[in-house]
Amino acid sequence: MNRNLNPNLPRLIPLLLALLLPGLAQAKLNVVATTPDIAAIAKEIGGSAVDITTLAKPTEDPHFVDAKPSFIVKLNHADAIIEGGAELEIGWLPALLDQARNSKLAPGAPAHISCAEGVQMLEVPTALDRSRGDIHAAGNPHFFVDPVNAKKAAEHIRDAFCNLDQKSSETFRANFQKFSDALDAKLKEWQAALAPYKGQQIVAYHNSWPYFGERFGLKIDLFLEPKPGVPPTPPHLAEVITKMKADKVHVIIVDPYLDRRTAETVAAKTGATVVDVTQFPGGVKGTDGGYIQLMDYLVKALGSALAKTN
Ligand SMILES: [Zn+2]
Repeated sequence: MNRNLNPNLPRLIPLLLALLLPGLAQAKLNVVATTPDIAAIAKEIGGSAVDITTLAKPTEDPHFVDAKPSFIVKLNHADAIIEGGAELEIGWLPALLDQARNSKLAPGAPAHISCAEGVQMLEVPTALDRSRGDIHAAGNPHFFVDPVNAKKAAEHIRDAFCNLDQKSSETFRANFQKFSDALDAKLKEWQAALAPYKGQQIVAYHNSWPYFGERFGLKIDLFLEPKPGVPPTPPHLAEVITKMKADKVHVIIVDPYLDRRTAETVAAKTGATVVDVTQFPGGVKGTDGGYIQLMDYLVKALGSALAKTN
């Protein structure tokens, strides 16, 4: 006489276990990303299976991030760290990792994910010239604004996540495919939008746009900084102004953490337009919706500035 036993019980057991063991049922991968662009891409792949903490603010210079003591605690508890690599974070991340004492995150460990691996780096110097102030000693580390590189990084993050959390690997693979398909479709749209301006020159404050320039056919090779990380000097700016006038360059781009007034001074002397740009979702108004929205903003902002000056 087993009539009192609920016939649904076998089916209810997994549900009961999930209720009793919420920690086990929802163990998420606890991931730290150095910058908001990396965090946005990791979120696309990880979805609800990961918790992501971002160290740098979207308005902060990724080379010089204000390292807070709370970062050490976050890194101590993390299951994975994702960095851009190529020395982008060399001025602040290694010291934090040392203090965090989390052996899982040691460079080279599976939970230390460096996005630069597998990316075709531009401007790799044949000889180190860090002594002269250049902070791009391992090549140009600002590669995420080329969607092809964003996809490579996403692939790398997917593989690392699958390795660290095998039970969620189907989710990570499906999320990657969705992001990858969206990027492929958008890339065509972005290239078409900027195609009319092929070969045009743009002045940047800091040399962080060669990957964007290469992908979209723009020449972004004249800079307000004499060298990456070295502040503008009057003789250097005078040279830039002369070149801008000679080559009829009408657009200057500036990131939120750089000195917009310097860009405005140069613009006033050349009749150029200053355009606010960012490489990080949330760095400029209207970009906080993720990587694709950020790229939409950049393509639109540059396209309309170049259209005005044609
Ligand atoms: Zn840089």
